[in-house]
Amino acid sequence: MINLLNFDLSKLTAYFQSIGERPFRAKQLMRQIHLGACDDFDAMTDIAKSLRLKLQENCDIRPPEIIQEHTSTDGTKKWLLNVDNQNAIETVFIPEENRGTLCVSTQAGCALDCAFCSTGKQGFNRNLTTAEIIGQLWVANRALGATPKNERVISNVVMMGMGEPLANFDNTVSALKIMLDDYGYGLSRRRVTVSTSGLIPQMERLSQECPTALAVSLHAPNDDIRNKIMPINQKYPLKDLMNACLKYLQFAPRDFITFEYILLNGVNDEARHAQELLDLVKSVPCKFNLIPFNPFPNSPFRQPERESVLRFRDILNDFGIVATIRKTRGDDIAAACGQLAGQVKDKTRRTHKFQVA
Ligand code: SAH
Ligand code: SF4
Repeated sequence: MINLLNFDLSKLTAYFQSIGERPFRAKQLMRQIHLGACDDFDAMTDIAKSLRLKLQENCDIRPPEIIQEHTSTDGTKKWLLNVDNQNAIETVFIPEENRGTLCVSTQAGCALDCAFCSTGKQGFNRNLTTAEIIGQLWVANRALGATPKNERVISNVVMMGMGEPLANFDNTVSALKIMLDDYGYGLSRRRVTVSTSGLIPQMERLSQECPTALAVSLHAPNDDIRNKIMPINQKYPLKDLMNACLKYLQFAPRDFITFEYILLNGVNDEARHAQELLDLVKSVPCKFNLIPFNPFPNSPFRQPERESVLRFRDILNDFGIVATIRKTRGDDIAAACGQLAGQVKDKTRRTHKFQVA
């Protein structure tokens, strides 16, 4: 069976052509599948019966299956989704007054092994398919009560769940295209954010093939510290990364890069680090998202005191850089940044962790 969630509009159109169907029918179907959150061909009454029968024989709409759903006291929701009976991934919905943000995962585990990240500590198992990535939107949308006529509940998507999106480039881009497509979820490019640890060649490809808002996980003011906490820095050091950010901005839908900066007590959170950071980013139009470290079991780091977080923010602000402290949402259901662990079949010798709140 062909899982139609794997197809963005151009792939669905190509498939339709191969079975002798006209391109506009592909658009009709996209709308039903995604905006309508429909997985039943019989219910798609605006689509010709003959086509529906053909689809029923060869295709299905198969999103990941919900294993658990948790709702935080602050309204944040987290779903644990089964992708292949060996791996489970997590997706988080964060409602705010004027928007609803879905945080999606792109890989089962992650190979990049950042020292402060719970996903990284599990090692890498595999890339998610396009169907598994866009399926998170599908599942959340449906669970949140979407119908084609409803107002959209999910207005923003951030690729800040498990995994490094740009290390799973092709599937991530196909999923992005479905999010942005008017016949898919119709989201604005400015409201879809890819978060990357800084894979330079893929940042360039993204700017060409499907530019969206970009968040870069910076986390350190110099190569010494960054090398220690993010092994990827040895391959793509900070100077090159800053240049890549500048280049990205030439094509980006927003005129700034969001730098994510995790604050680790005694490691990168002192005033001198903030000063050094100002110098590092001086040529890049940017905003900062400061994330006090979210602890997880067996991690060697600690969250800084509130005063040092505020001091760090003030140094950036005084220099004219917008810096906000990320509010921790969904803490009580382990849905905060860096806490997503899901369940990944462990292929590493690292400590295995299975976390369900
Ligand atoms: N791989 C991508 C996207 C997923 S991680 C990336 O690294 O950017 C999303 C964000 O959560 C990143 O900025 C990441 O550094 C941050 N993060 C990871 N572990 C964290 C933790 N324990 N506490 C707070 N933030 C964390
Ligand atoms: Fe991977 Fe991002 Fe976690 Fe680093 S922070 S290990 S890149 S998911």
